[in-house]
Amino acid sequence: MNETLLEVNNLKKFYSSKSTLFKSVNEQVKAVDGVTFSIKKGDIFGLVGESGSGKSTLGKTILRLHNKTSGDVFFKGKNVFKLSKKELIHYRLQSQLVFQDPFSSLNPRIRIGEAIGEAMIQHKLASRTNVRDQVLSIMEKCGLSPYHIDRYPHEFSGGQRQRIVIARAMALNPEFVVTDEPVSALDVSIQAQIINLFSELQEKENLSYLFISHDLSVVEHLCNKVAIMYLGNIVEQASRDELFKNPLHPYTKALLSAIPIPDPTIKREKIILKGEIPSPITPPSGCKFRTRCPIAQKKCADIPPDYKDVGSNHFVACHFV
Ligand code: ADP
Ligand code: MG
Repeated sequence: MNETLLEVNNLKKFYSSKSTLFKSVNEQVKAVDGVTFSIKKGDIFGLVGESGSGKSTLGKTILRLHNKTSGDVFFKGKNVFKLSKKELIHYRLQSQLVFQDPFSSLNPRIRIGEAIGEAMIQHKLASRTNVRDQVLSIMEKCGLSPYHIDRYPHEFSGGQRQRIVIARAMALNPEFVVTDEPVSALDVSIQAQIINLFSELQEKENLSYLFISHDLSVVEHLCNKVAIMYLGNIVEQASRDELFKNPLHPYTKALLSAIPIPDPTIKREKIILKGEIPSPITPPSGCKFRTRCPIAQKKCADIPPDYKDVGSNHFVACHFV
């Protein structure tokens, strides 16, 4: 159970933004700027941060949908940037991506059953004769009814479409799933159902997830570990219980303070962050969070804080912790 599945070492991914009519210099967008963490088998690892913090880029680079700039990613001990062609195909089966907008990832002219079964046949995980039964069984696991098999994507609600996309990923029998904002476009009541589905599938299929969300409250009930990302770096990481009980980084504290508490007798002071996330082309010197940090001092502009272990697998990058 404690086997390491994924290891990310000082991973960087910069985009180069080419010169345009209005801009003559080549600039680098430091979307992922040195990220280190690992995921153990069975983990549901939550990755949280505001829009623009680099979460999607990190997820896609791990899955090798993007090339890296530097650093390494190991999946089951193998460097994913050094896989042979055949190994890469296998890696792409073992690790699946589910993202926010299920409508754009489903072909409107293809029936649900075919959408789910297509890749199974292509990768020889099913034959033409037994694919229908296998698709029905996966649909059932994902909370879809048998009669849905011959319907088209537009006949479904947003929540059901997300179930279809999840079923399509599950059909390839993955070990690891990156879910990028999978519930952000859904109503709150539907969000809970899809989160329950992820949780059920994790137990039944022995899956591990990298669960990406801009909303800390979404990961609270699903994930066993949580990392907080800001402008290309992880600034804090801990077990879910530890992070919610004992948040240490000022950014984590601000994100937590924005979650409403259902009990009206408990008051939590809301920390409002100044301004917006800075551009990853010209990030602030020293600690990148300092321009919005309520406790920043001169030192923060001069020296980037170390990412240090404060005990019980709790890591944080702040000079004042
Ligand atoms: P998140 O998923 O946390 O919102 P992203 O990974 O999408 O963050 O983006 C991180 C940063 O990288 C943003 O500033 C974004 O504008 C930039 N970015 C993302 N994709 C590209 C791209 N293809 N080319 C240039 N910049 C990009
Ligand atoms: Mg994103």
